[in-house]
Amino acid sequence: MHLEGTGAPTRHVIAWDDPSYTDSAALDAELRRQFDVCHGCRRCFNLCDSFPRLFDLIDASQSGELDTVDSKDFQPVIDACTLCDMCFMTKCPYVPPHAFNIDFPHLMLRYRVMENRHGRPTFAQRQIRKTDRNGALATHLSALANWGTSVANKLGRAVLAAFANIHPRAWLPRYVRARDVLVTRAARESEPVNLLAPAANKRKVVLYATCAGNFNKPEVGLATRAVLARNGVETVVVHPGCCGMPQLEIGDLAAVAASAKKVSAELVAWVDKDYDVVALTPSCALMLKFEWPLIVPKDANVARLAKATHDVAEYIVEIAKAEGLAEGLAPMPEPVALHISCHSRAQNMGAKAADMLRLIPEANISVVDRCSGHGGAWGAEKPNFEVALKVSKPVFRRVLDLKPAHIASECPLAGDHIVQGVQELEPGAGPKTAVHPILLFARAYGIDVGASP
Ligand code: SF4
Ligand code: SF4
Repeated sequence: MHLEGTGAPTRHVIAWDDPSYTDSAALDAELRRQFDVCHGCRRCFNLCDSFPRLFDLIDASQSGELDTVDSKDFQPVIDACTLCDMCFMTKCPYVPPHAFNIDFPHLMLRYRVMENRHGRPTFAQRQIRKTDRNGALATHLSALANWGTSVANKLGRAVLAAFANIHPRAWLPRYVRARDVLVTRAARESEPVNLLAPAANKRKVVLYATCAGNFNKPEVGLATRAVLARNGVETVVVHPGCCGMPQLEIGDLAAVAASAKKVSAELVAWVDKDYDVVALTPSCALMLKFEWPLIVPKDANVARLAKATHDVAEYIVEIAKAEGLAEGLAPMPEPVALHISCHSRAQNMGAKAADMLRLIPEANISVVDRCSGHGGAWGAEKPNFEVALKVSKPVFRRVLDLKPAHIASECPLAGDHIVQGVQELEPGAGPKTAVHPILLFARAYGIDVGASP
């Protein structure tokens, strides 16, 4: 990784509110500068669909170089980027502080900020990305919402396809009932489930529920809470709002900045009371740790929160190293295909979910560390769904080869996308659902928090 860099990789502040950031001539010059380096390098040819589109575009031009490519033909290259960060994190030797100064994902982001200024994201694209508002509404009508969005409901999906541009075959997140929303349930059940005699620990944790953890997969938070309780760690669960990752996808950085200010103000109040922050979804942890400080660099709350935030597995591994874990983990010899999500990797912390699961006796973990291709709401949209399946075919094949008892991913969307891809390749093969690795860890402690619908 970063073989020829001149120092630790770094990223520049995103000057999204500076007019020059979205000036079309300046942006075009920067696209051409970075595209030219990539065309000469080509290391990222198999990471996603953006790079093959770029290389094919240039190779097919009159001169075979960028000088004979029209800038209007760049659009498909930008549209194929899921902002997964894999090129920046795993392949590129030219990221800052290297003089070539290549940050391909943030270049794609800059283009989308420009598009956002010109009103390109549609009304529907903006609405489906309001995940905390949508979650709050859908959980009050969860049976109707889950029925209406099921792929088996041809009429419902035809309506979604027509009005929200969602591909009829894309699996969509399912919602729990309002009474089972994570923050509601955590407030109702003051004691985490199946709490045995806890180990002594002075740590206190505020769990940032995140939209997926709050409205779709509360079992992740319940399992995290129970494992932490088993290790003597006091927890509270809050959901001040969305982290803004869905808005980042469409370049609406003003909305991301507003989310960062609101959520960080609430979470920092817990940091002031000596709580560590654990975010339940990797994309949201990435936002708190790395993206927000680049988008609102002068906000003191955001800066403090970035230092206090942990990923779930990262935090469990930290406890194991610092204090040792509570006794009672039963062996888990059954094979697990563990997908390392892109936004876990982008947190630059190593494969912490694998480290965590390997703390379980006899753990049989095979790591799958390619991109799952879904890209948030991107992979469910009509123009992108087939691309998302194509990009991640090597992931589906590897999972099939492993014949796992469990498919695990820290990313809820990646987990579902992998299960769907496996089923499309070989109907009936493999597990029918994916789990967050913390659920396997909790089960090794004898804790079963159940599953969402
Ligand atoms: S961020 Fe991901 S999708 Fe975008 S160009 Fe890089 S590897 Fe491809
Ligand atoms: S992002 Fe970096 S590693 Fe990937 S093709 Fe471009 S220059 Fe090469």
